Amino acid sequence: MSTTRHFIYEEIAADLAAGRYRAVVTRFPPEPNGYLHIGHAKAICLDFGMAAAFGGRCHLRMDDTNPAKESMEYVEAIQRDIRWLGFDWGEHFYYAADYFERMYECAVHLIRTGRAYVCQVPQEEWKHYRGVPTEPGRESPYRNRPIEESLDLFARMRAGEFPDGSMCLRAKIDMASPNLHLRDPVLYRILRVPHYRTGNRWVIYPTYDFAHPLEDAFEGVTHSLCTLEFEVHRPLYDWVIQSCGFQPPPRQIEFARLNLTYTVMSKRRLGELVREGHVRGWDDPRLPTLCGMRRRGYPPEAIRKFCDEIGVTKYDSLTEYALLEHYVREVLNLRAPRRMAVLDPLKVVIKNFDDSVVREVEVPNNPENPAEGTRRIPFGRELWIERDDYRDDPPPDFYRLAPGRAVRLRGAGFFTCRNVVRDSSGRPIEIHGDWAPASARLKVRSTLHWVSVAHAVPIEVRLYDHLFTIPDVSAIPDDDDYRRYLNPRSLVEVRGWGEPALAATPPGQTVQFERLGYFCADSEDFRPDRYVFNRTVTLKDSPLATAGRG
Ligand code: ATP
Ligand code: MG
Repeated sequence: MSTTRHFIYEEIAADLAAGRYRAVVTRFPPEPNGYLHIGHAKAICLDFGMAAAFGGRCHLRMDDTNPAKESMEYVEAIQRDIRWLGFDWGEHFYYAADYFERMYECAVHLIRTGRAYVCQVPQEEWKHYRGVPTEPGRESPYRNRPIEESLDLFARMRAGEFPDGSMCLRAKIDMASPNLHLRDPVLYRILRVPHYRTGNRWVIYPTYDFAHPLEDAFEGVTHSLCTLEFEVHRPLYDWVIQSCGFQPPPRQIEFARLNLTYTVMSKRRLGELVREGHVRGWDDPRLPTLCGMRRRGYPPEAIRKFCDEIGVTKYDSLTEYALLEHYVREVLNLRAPRRMAVLDPLKVVIKNFDDSVVREVEVPNNPENPAEGTRRIPFGRELWIERDDYRDDPPPDFYRLAPGRAVRLRGAGFFTCRNVVRDSSGRPIEIHGDWAPASARLKVRSTLHWVSVAHAVPIEVRLYDHLFTIPDVSAIPDDDDYRRYLNPRSLVEVRGWGEPALAATPPGQTVQFERLGYFCADSEDFRPDRYVFNRTVTLKDSPLATAGRG
């Protein structure tokens, strides 16, 4: 497993060896303001993976200190998705909002010890005080107000005596620091927004930079793993921990976030795609959300393997979507039962059909896994085959059906094309010919899948492709509209025919349609009388994987 040897593993091992911590405690701290995506999966695998590697524990904590967009809907979805991914936080589930009282006490402690003050410089004006990295900033005129005055004002901020935005609590750190985050950052602001857990109890809320280190410290977290954008916040993280006197101090370590080609990972953009109806909800199989991937049929093991293999580094990069698909195929190849289905049907008529000779055939459920046994499929005088499997004028490298040519039918002997029935435009509508048993050993160069017309069940198939037409969606500048690059063929819906066993597919189960790819019975729309399948992924080398991507 590659997770056991990246730089974060080495850092944690060194901390333990040096006796800095007795046990490893990590946390995954999502803000419940959206659904989890594959980028979060990388963080989850790392947080839970490191805890497991060192025999420690990993907490799941809702980082819910910003009431504006948070809700229980997201809390529940987050729990569901992490469980599905295969991780368990045991009893260590926390809400940052449950710490508001303790955070308030820490803020009072900072004021008392001269490390924080109530500031009344309006938010719009603050940028002039803060300045630029190359020159020292200007001190707030409230910076040196008496401690008693700040204590009094802070208590009255909490009591709701002042309007939103009229005051804030600032850390008193260093207005000359080249790191702007240390130039007296805001610790608390006044905000009259009801919180989904604390309701109207609070009208002041801590900022992320103040709340996050405290949450870690309260829970005894030792290693706080987060993405690179927090690197510049680390001195402030350490300042809060130290100023509030927590021992041993939790340690923040940053790693590069996951970026994937042909998709977006920003919660803001994902939310827009959902709200504006470009996709059909958070669990649309085209989205990189974990619920979308579940609905699409991606096995959680494949996502874990992918997260493991891409590794953990300190530099940003763009990972190929194809790599994720590789692990999806690898897992499904061993597990998915094989079935036959035809998505673009063309009729074959067997002129010499004799139902006293053959009525059904027996085929393996999974040639990769003989333990899964075999099943019987009805055979008949009329079969559906894939339209693409026949050509009037086959090019030299086309080995499938053509006038006068024979092919093998999967599990069912041979068929030789004798003549073609056409519609008025000349398009083939029926291929007529002769059948021969497997014992005939005709010389053929290809095998076709088929479904008996008389027994076929109608299937609705959703062929998914990349959501965007360009690989690096994050490179689209802000003055351009990223929606222009949405792939108009990211979803193509077709109707086809499947072997009877498909009607009994449990919703959520992924099967392989032979020669076409992996398809998942849709967990929402598959019913006893409506057979809806989502294409999970194409087969790597399928000649028929043409709808959508090749
Ligand atoms: P926001 O833009 O709202 O901050 P976010 O995706 O960072 O969005 P959080 O709920 O804060 O959302 O994320 C929870 C954790 O997941 C954070 O620790 C964050 O660093 C990590 N994370 C988020 N996106 C990625 C990603 N693409 N790759 C790896 N880790 C990620
Ligand atoms: Mg975040």
